Amino acid sequence: MQQSVITDKFGRALQDLRISVTDRCNFRCRYCMPREIFGKDFAFLPKEHLLSFEEIERLTKVFLELGVRKIRLTGGEPLLRRDIKHLIERLANLDGLEDIGLTTNGVLLGKMATGLKQAGLKRVNVSLDAIDDETFMKINDSNVKSQPVIDSIIKAKEAGLKVKVNMVVKKGMNDHQILPMANFFKKIGVTLRFIEFMDVGQTNGWDFKHVVTKKEIFEMIANEHDLEAVDPAYFGEVAKRYRYTGTDIEVGFITSVSESFCSSCTRARIAADGHFFTCLFAGEGLNLKDILRDGATNQELTETIISRWKYRDDRYSDERTEETAKNRKKIEMSYIGG
Ligand code: SAM
Ligand code: SF4
Ligand code: SF4
Repeated sequence: MQQSVITDKFGRALQDLRISVTDRCNFRCRYCMPREIFGKDFAFLPKEHLLSFEEIERLTKVFLELGVRKIRLTGGEPLLRRDIKHLIERLANLDGLEDIGLTTNGVLLGKMATGLKQAGLKRVNVSLDAIDDETFMKINDSNVKSQPVIDSIIKAKEAGLKVKVNMVVKKGMNDHQILPMANFFKKIGVTLRFIEFMDVGQTNGWDFKHVVTKKEIFEMIANEHDLEAVDPAYFGEVAKRYRYTGTDIEVGFITSVSESFCSSCTRARIAADGHFFTCLFAGEGLNLKDILRDGATNQELTETIISRWKYRDDRYSDERTEETAKNRKKIEMSYIGG
């Protein structure tokens, strides 16, 4: 892999870019977009504030020149963005891009999977927080049962996409679903990753006592199954990986709260309106859309991004306390892109 040309204050390269393509969603997950706040009067971004596909492509080229190798499209719900397939086609062929993935709640994935794969998409992460319908519907607050999402997962696999499933675990919300989820995805041979509930944004009422740690989840699974550790595939891999002994079926843990991984964080984010963020927990972004629309050259864009990244000193999860979790101004996950 080519070396990145820029590093931040702690020597971390800029290697991964998450691009949010919309702040809208067809779910109202209680921990992400609670309906009381994201109701029918909520002011989502107007269309003219969204980066166009041309603008996303141009920015992506600049980031690739700076050393980015992996892109993930997210949101909101990225499959709601009209013609997303065409954006993937434009990005997948760019010089220097090694990997393009997408994170989705899966509702629209089944019927789109083949087209997305043909457009050049390599992998999808599908979010599913419970198998049990009552629990899942309580979380998504949108009347969607788990079966349509499971069908989409199977269709995406059949279409040739690499598929992982992500489950956010919140105490009292879905911790009773840890084992049913592990058993189900082991049975169908799909990697399941447990994500510790995080204090993103201002609206999800996060508290340390809601977090079910990797250690607790691991113990629940290890009581029933033999697990062995799997080495990380590359520097900075976020998930801690295990496999069910004697199989190649994996289970992973994203330990943002109990074992933070800021020291190897090489990720940047672009929100749907073109704001550039150097941390998921940032309070403020740099408005690349206005810079673009004011006629900046690629050279000027490059210099702007370099000067922002060079001074990056984010390590929010390493420093998290009750106080920062409650009082620091943070951007909503549906806007910044999960
Ligand atoms: N709508 C898509 C989806 O749900 O996959 C993409 C965007 S969503 C913001 C990306 C991921 O962030 C999902 O897996 C979601 O469960 C996760 N997420 C949202 N809020 C979270 C929180 N407070 N803590 C941990 N993960 C969270
Ligand atoms: Fe939508 Fe994803 Fe947030 Fe759920 S987690 S509300 S699906 S953006
Ligand atoms: Fe990266 Fe910020 Fe998360 Fe730390 S808290 S891993 S710096 S995004």
